[in-house]
Amino acid sequence: MLRSVILAASRSSQVERLVATAPYTRDVVRRFVAGAATDDALRATRGLVDDGLAVTLDHLGEDTVTPEQATATRDEYLRLLKMLSGAGLTPAAEVSVKLSALGQMFDEQLAYDNARAICAAADAAGTTVTLDMEDHTTTDSTLEVLGRLRKDFPSTGAVLQAYLRRTESDCRELAYAGSRVRLCKGAYKEPESVAYQSTREVDKSYVRCMNILMSGDGYPMLATHDPRMIAIGEDRARWFDRGPERFEFQMLYGIRPEEQARLAGEGYTVRTYVPYGDEWYGYLMRRLAERPANPGSSSGRARESPKK
Ligand SMILES: Cc1cc2nc3c(=O)[nH]c(=O)nc-3n(C[C@H](O)[C@H](O)[C@H](O)COP(=O)(O)OP(=O)(O)OC[C@H]3O[C@@H](n4cnc5c(N)ncnc54)[C@H](O)[C@@H]3O)c2cc1C
Repeated sequence: MLRSVILAASRSSQVERLVATAPYTRDVVRRFVAGAATDDALRATRGLVDDGLAVTLDHLGEDTVTPEQATATRDEYLRLLKMLSGAGLTPAAEVSVKLSALGQMFDEQLAYDNARAICAAADAAGTTVTLDMEDHTTTDSTLEVLGRLRKDFPSTGAVLQAYLRRTESDCRELAYAGSRVRLCKGAYKEPESVAYQSTREVDKSYVRCMNILMSGDGYPMLATHDPRMIAIGEDRARWFDRGPERFEFQMLYGIRPEEQARLAGEGYTVRTYVPYGDEWYGYLMRRLAERPANPGSSSGRARESPKK
């Protein structure tokens, strides 16, 4: 119930104004977001890479409504990729992109063109792009754009959400050689007609989807903070003989950093998803919806000041 209320608020500009001006907000944002500027993102990335983690960077922003905003987002990614490459941070760091930030809501072709430019820049920088998945009304369009991008940039990553009833079937479709697929539980408020509603059902779906991806020919990216899902992931890696070059764990910046370090210390590939930029509201609200009582609890606390 509380999760639904927070997720509904994540799309309200009135609540956004209230949250943005609340006194404690800055500290909470700092725990989950690397900073506003590209330099902040680079600094956080350097710290994580020095600690043996891989990174995927997300320039915050979604649901763009004008071509100018979409182009500005594209240009920020092009700048970021140049800077990452110049700093020697590729291929350890890649980028995550939301098609809605590139124009998907009003012009799918524009979103594709923008995403294509980002894929080309990532390719030139020696790294990859993953297309974040948003609410279920965008799933078909996002997978369609993914298919087009993969023709020229086969390493473009997909995201599938275990809470959607369709996802087991999507996992089967995408478990082919060279296919990078991030499996997450899903962060949006979705109706019963398309999505499992209970934690138990979502978790069971996550395990079924993980089994398909880990036994398939692609490159699974297990995005979860859930100790049970991580333990099952470790088990499947042993069972299907997948070493650190054949799958990875992914977690969000500021969430369970000790667990990220533990897994990396055990030799797994672990990638931290690092958001940066001014438009933190929707992202932060989704994190609060996942853990309303205490979003910055000790196990979920980021370094107070990210290294360097
Ligand atoms: C790298 C990455 C990329 C993602 N990309 C997308 C995307 O493109 N689209 C999308 O819809 N969603 C995305 N998500 C979000 C995802 O869908 C979930 O909403 C989110 O990860 C929470 O689910 P969970 O698997 O961590 O477990 P949950 O079911 O939220 O929690 C299960 C257990 O995990 C542990 N845990 C969870 N959160 C914390 C915390 N803050 N501190 C300490 N322990 C915690 C607790 O033990 C908890 O009981 C992404 C997540 C990650 C990690």
